[in-house]
Amino acid sequence: MPRGANLPVIAAFNETVLLDAIRRSSTGMSRVELVGATGLSAQTVTNVSRRLLGHGLIREAGSAPVDGPGKPRTILQLEPTGSYAIGVHLDPTVITCVLLDLESTVVEHIRRPAPVSGDAAATVEITAAAIEELLETSGVDRDRLSGIGVAAPGPIDSHTGVVVRPPLVPGWTDFHLRDELTAATGLPVRVAKDVTAAALAERWRDPAGASGNFVFLYYGTGVGVGMVLAEQVYTGATQNAGDVGHAIVNPDGPRCYCGRRGCFGESVRPHRLVVQAIQDGVIEAPPGTEFTGGPTGTEPEFDVETVEELFTALIRAADDGDAAAERILDRSIRDTATYVSNLAALLDIDRVVFGGPSWSRLQSRYLEQLPQRIAEIDMGILTHPVSIAGSAIGDDVAAVGAACLVLDATFSPRSTLA
Ligand SMILES: [Zn+2]
Repeated sequence: MPRGANLPVIAAFNETVLLDAIRRSSTGMSRVELVGATGLSAQTVTNVSRRLLGHGLIREAGSAPVDGPGKPRTILQLEPTGSYAIGVHLDPTVITCVLLDLESTVVEHIRRPAPVSGDAAATVEITAAAIEELLETSGVDRDRLSGIGVAAPGPIDSHTGVVVRPPLVPGWTDFHLRDELTAATGLPVRVAKDVTAAALAERWRDPAGASGNFVFLYYGTGVGVGMVLAEQVYTGATQNAGDVGHAIVNPDGPRCYCGRRGCFGESVRPHRLVVQAIQDGVIEAPPGTEFTGGPTGTEPEFDVETVEELFTALIRAADDGDAAAERILDRSIRDTATYVSNLAALLDIDRVVFGGPSWSRLQSRYLEQLPQRIAEIDMGILTHPVSIAGSAIGDDVAAVGAACLVLDATFSPRSTLA
């Protein structure tokens, strides 16, 4: 049953409604336009905009002429320096921190290598130090910070801010990320899955964009999907939607640790492509590699840093025209096409955006081949074309999305995410 709201709550609600309307207009809005856009009364718009001006969250930016008689209308715009949010992306290999202003522009960013051990406490220490450095270099006052958003590998418990058991980073299992980072920084922290953050970033950066129904295919240490459906970021019953899991895209594909063959997540993740490249003689395993890993217990064992280096070597070999290297990557593109066509049919999306830490190295080859591979599979199953694009935000996309998580709470009458 809906709960009633008292007056202070309604006042805060109306502030977010007005802020959100102003944010969505590219050039700002007059008070009269805000009445039309929000359904609030002229008196309420006047009162609320006065409060927002007082808080320094909006500014008066010139005036727009009116048709016919009457005085020009003052335009209200967001004041970008009115509030800031910090976004953190905890990837197994790199920690990215960004500082966003109220217009979601990146003011500063910092990257630090993640501790080689994958140690969770050390990760928090490095993150807290990076955040301090962001504030120092930008000169932004702590009082203007609305909080920290963290994008972490799932699954997560969004209510407690605990990273439950990321399969690729055992050192973070059951780690109380939210509480530890709050203790280290003195700032409120929100935690979301990395794929969810990436989708949120795309949505935020392009609020009136071409599609309100798209997926973000995230290529990191593993692969995941962030979904925007009917204009909203879809997070599922426990905020853990988007695990591409074990959808089979190739019954003859590589063995997955679940026991089956050709699961999408396993088929295209960098670790698998690197192992394949070693088995096919494209690249060599570093000296001292132990062959006791993988589902068969006979595959090379690598830490995430080594996978990164070998993955870069594999892509370089393909770019230099090594036929076996090209075959490995082209197979991953065919597997991706199969998965994308299934997703597009299931969700009726018209756009797939690709990004994540491993994406930039794959981008040119994927964008060149993927549309054709999808068209070959389609055979009339899809009712409309699906556009394929790389994220315009680049490698910082999950960190930017994590900061948008904080901004989202500032702007949304009902936050998109908990
Ligand atoms: Zn599997």
